Amino acid sequence: MTAEDKATLIRDVDWLLAYDSDLGSHSYRRGADVAFRGDRFVDPTTLAPEDIGQVIDGKGLMVSPGFIDIHAHPGYETMLKGLTEEVGSRKLYMSSLYEYLFLFDTTHEGMVAATEVALSELMQSGVTTICDLSTPHVGWIDTLAASGMRAYAAPMFREARWFTDNGHEVKYDWDEAAGERRMIAALAEVDAAIAHPCGRLGGMIVPAQIDTCSARMFKDSLVEARRRGIPIQTHASQSVVDFQEIMRRHGLTPIGWLEELGLLGPDMIVGHGIFLDHHDWIRWPDRRDLALLAETGTTVAHCPTVFARRGISLQNMGDYLRAGVNIGIGTDTYPHNFIEEMRTGIYTARVTARDIEGATARQMIEAATLGGAKALGRDDIGRIAPGAKADFFTVDLTHPSMRPLYDPLRSLIFSSGERAIRDVYVDGRQVVRNGAALAFDPEDATERLEAAQRASIAEVARYDWGGRPVEQLMPRLF
Ligand SMILES: [Zn+2]
Repeated sequence: MTAEDKATLIRDVDWLLAYDSDLGSHSYRRGADVAFRGDRFVDPTTLAPEDIGQVIDGKGLMVSPGFIDIHAHPGYETMLKGLTEEVGSRKLYMSSLYEYLFLFDTTHEGMVAATEVALSELMQSGVTTICDLSTPHVGWIDTLAASGMRAYAAPMFREARWFTDNGHEVKYDWDEAAGERRMIAALAEVDAAIAHPCGRLGGMIVPAQIDTCSARMFKDSLVEARRRGIPIQTHASQSVVDFQEIMRRHGLTPIGWLEELGLLGPDMIVGHGIFLDHHDWIRWPDRRDLALLAETGTTVAHCPTVFARRGISLQNMGDYLRAGVNIGIGTDTYPHNFIEEMRTGIYTARVTARDIEGATARQMIEAATLGGAKALGRDDIGRIAPGAKADFFTVDLTHPSMRPLYDPLRSLIFSSGERAIRDVYVDGRQVVRNGAALAFDPEDATERLEAAQRASIAEVARYDWGGRPVEQLMPRLF
């Protein structure tokens, strides 16, 4: 038996969040052992002494399954730090999509730098699986592979781009032939990811937005997803604008139109599913959307931070779950700090519901692990159980931010944040050590990201309908 065939044993873990198949959820175990061999957890009681290689002392540690981020744009959002936190179009129901999102252009190199920085931050906050919704760029798949994460390449394609030339009306510029070319390029990226020799990459089919793709493109997307047995995701009901636009075109809500197209189902993820027919900004007379999502087993990718910044929230997470909708968590924007995203999600749900039961930390942990796994059609991630992938992180319970200690996950979410996360493993291989991500050179990546931001903000006036420079659109605070 070589050293690589031997199991790693974490002995006498103070708090282990283990999967309980009878419960269909996690439960705390005290003073438990956990072991993995190669890329998977094994039952520690089945190991003979000669099977065991490295032994780690679990005293003072919590061991938790790694989080699953089902919706992120690490190659783009990362460079907007300090810029877009406080912009949104008040004449377009607070959305920042139509007036601000496409002001910033960057290069392939800028996207790679942004991705390196974002993936490092995600891993340091306990994320072991990422769904990267990006536009295909040189170096993308190699960067995902090099990160050490489990990653789904989710290249976006579309036939129309939206724009505004006055800040209060959204227009669409359609080019079906270009959309077709983008889809073909995206499928090639997906296939390259699936075939990548690292074995940690998967793919997702992403017709980008409900209002920028035709019925034909959605139906073709479904065919390509089913052919490969992979999930499909689109942005829908993410703004009042897209609700009203789909109603104007088809006489249906975005969710209703997806149903008519045959897209709703267990392999469909809707980002972000906020403006359903029950949302009080919509004032719609029917109440069908939530039930349609639940009955079809469709997942909602819930990314609370980017919307909370603009006064927007799901109404509300607890109600979606009680209706039977599967929810997974994403980090649509920066920071790529998954613990902060979960905390924001809990608070926004409670404020929106005006109810302490608007969302619980337990619901949030389940969404961030089992909900994400279900969205991806997997029962081997998001849990610590023999046979599951060894994707997990450890928390230093002696860290001052975790003390005094009564409930470790509650303290992690509400008090400590990522500060107490020590080591992170994916496929049984360490990707974070003592709080530092190992894959990329953080100083070098950050300098390249800064250069990308500088180059991008210099060009903002070119992309703004009013020709305004960044200092006018997003003035500094003081
Ligand atoms: Zn998004």
